[in-house]
Amino acid sequence: MPQAFVNIAYLISSTLFIFALKGLSHPRTAVRGNLLGALGMLIAIVVTLMDKSIVSYELIILGFILGSAIGAISALKVPMTSMPQMVAIFNGFGGGASTLVAALAFIEAIELNKAMGTQETVATVASGLIGAVTFWGSMVAFAKLEGLIEERPIRYKGEQIVKIIFALASIIFGIIFGMEKNMNYYWYLVATSSILGVLLTIPIGGADMPVVISLLNSYSGLAACATGFVLNNNVLIISGSLVGASGIILTNLMCKAMNRSLTNVLFGGFGEIVAETDEDKVYGGKIKSASPEEIAMLLENARRVVIVPGYGMAVSQAQFAVRDLMKVLESKGIEVEFAIHPVAGRMPGHMNVLLAEANIPYEKLKEMDEINPTFEQTDVSIVIGANDVVNPLARTDSNSPIAGMPILDVDKSKTVVVIKRSLAPGFAGIPNPLFAADNTLMLFGDAKKMVQELINALKES
Ligand code: NAP
Repeated sequence: MPQAFVNIAYLISSTLFIFALKGLSHPRTAVRGNLLGALGMLIAIVVTLMDKSIVSYELIILGFILGSAIGAISALKVPMTSMPQMVAIFNGFGGGASTLVAALAFIEAIELNKAMGTQETVATVASGLIGAVTFWGSMVAFAKLEGLIEERPIRYKGEQIVKIIFALASIIFGIIFGMEKNMNYYWYLVATSSILGVLLTIPIGGADMPVVISLLNSYSGLAACATGFVLNNNVLIISGSLVGASGIILTNLMCKAMNRSLTNVLFGGFGEIVAETDEDKVYGGKIKSASPEEIAMLLENARRVVIVPGYGMAVSQAQFAVRDLMKVLESKGIEVEFAIHPVAGRMPGHMNVLLAEANIPYEKLKEMDEINPTFEQTDVSIVIGANDVVNPLARTDSNSPIAGMPILDVDKSKTVVVIKRSLAPGFAGIPNPLFAADNTLMLFGDAKKMVQELINALKES
């Protein structure tokens, strides 16, 4: 195949990837963005396989069918709440593939007596190192999130020194490999980097896991980019850089939303802090629960209502009932808006995706900075399965694991209604004084069921 044709096809793919990222940055254009990205990938794969013509067409078709089936089944079967695990495992495969592809390219070059220059050698070392860290780091993250191993951070004395030793060993094997061009050293490098990947991820737990997955996503992009330099493949270099850059931007955004630094996430050990706040002290005799009928009466007199969705809405799949509640309230002339915390749920954009699924207009979804100043003018805030993102301890208790995390100031509204099944804590594992506040009413039960009962009560009143 003429090289000019391949390069033009790669340029089209790369452009499609950039438009895909642009589309994915807004819920309204996300589906189109996804399709553009998939089209870009299809063009890149077909052109690469036709260009190299090293694999038989039967194998290519078999690979396509197998890969598409695995992708489609995972997309359909994996529940939204398990998306972080799925992303982890896909990142891991990306990293692992980069390690193996770079190795095979080098082995082939040695066999063909082809000279590998400095660029290819350095890129092979980078692919082996970053790819192995990504693969094993992602496998540990997957196992933690799936509950296959303890999610709690695993810490031990001198852990930073042990990590530095393995990082140095990987670099030394990389240098020897570069000088000797002996594949044995590559595999030693992969072995030490694999251990490093495990060591880097086991001390992380709790709310930091998705941040680490986003960071590993960035690593998988860097590994792919490095492999692009080994193969001299432009589309791999460009798409790898895009994944690397977008992964690090997302990591940074998540850290900011949780008021943590990346260093603190990687070396601080979230989830290790044992909650010291005594539940009895926070809740003892102060919880007021109400029935759907009582809350319906309260809502009847409201002019402005803010709905705050959280992880519990996702668990209960209450988004359609929540849309119906919005419609009933609006039919009574009540203004309704949604307050979206950047880390509500279990992955970035979790609430946006669910509410978009229920066709709730995007204009109604307000980000934290925009909605926070309006809570004082809000008659009723309805918190549906959210906990940590509305926990005032973040403002008041400097020892709390969520200390300093910006929260939605629902406690400033005239009345707060909290829908959840019990007084159980959220992700951070700490009690929430909001539930015991004077202006809070608890509506205990499953989010979907309670919202439906609330709608029935509103319709009857
Ligand atoms: P949360 O603090 O985890 O609390 C969720 C609450 O939902 C729980 O207290 C639970 O209480 C309730 N719940 C569960 N199932 C329910 C059901 N079927 N019906 C009604 N309620 C139900 O959730 P959040 O306020 O959304 O906060 C998210 C947390 O995850 C934060 O700590 C954040 O840092 C962390 N996190 C988020 C991301 C992200 O990217 N979004 C990433 C990593 C970590 P009951 O059991 O009493 O019902």
